[in-house]
Amino acid sequence: MPYVIAAPCIDVTDKSCIEECPVDCIYEGDRKLYIQPKECIDCGACEPVCPVEAISQDRRVPEEYTEFIEDNRLFFAETLPGRDEPIGSPGGSHKTGAFGVDTPLVAGR
Ligand code: SF4
Ligand code: SF4
Repeated sequence: MPYVIAAPCIDVTDKSCIEECPVDCIYEGDRKLYIQPKECIDCGACEPVCPVEAISQDRRVPEEYTEFIEDNRLFFAETLPGRDEPIGSPGGSHKTGAFGVDTPLVAGR
């Protein structure tokens, strides 16, 4: 049951959550951050530090944001615009840095 980042993060991206994550599985796109669902250990440390309450466990995502459950997964599983292959499971966002690209759902908002 991974945690998910939803729409309120868009254009906020203060990265408070990144500093809390013990497994470094929160990745920066362009205008939003995304949690790698296969790397998230479901600890919940990121949720209370988000200033806009964008983070919640996938089974508790507010109804208006449920499309972001799949969208967090797609950020890693699909080839994003301008890239040659999916991001996959890089094993730590501090070594990758920001990817500078978002999913079509986020880019269209
Ligand atoms: S729930 Fe824990 S492991 Fe998952 S993204 Fe948040 S801080 Fe990282
Ligand atoms: S703390 Fe919240 S607003 Fe800030 S980057 Fe993380 S999810 Fe986005």
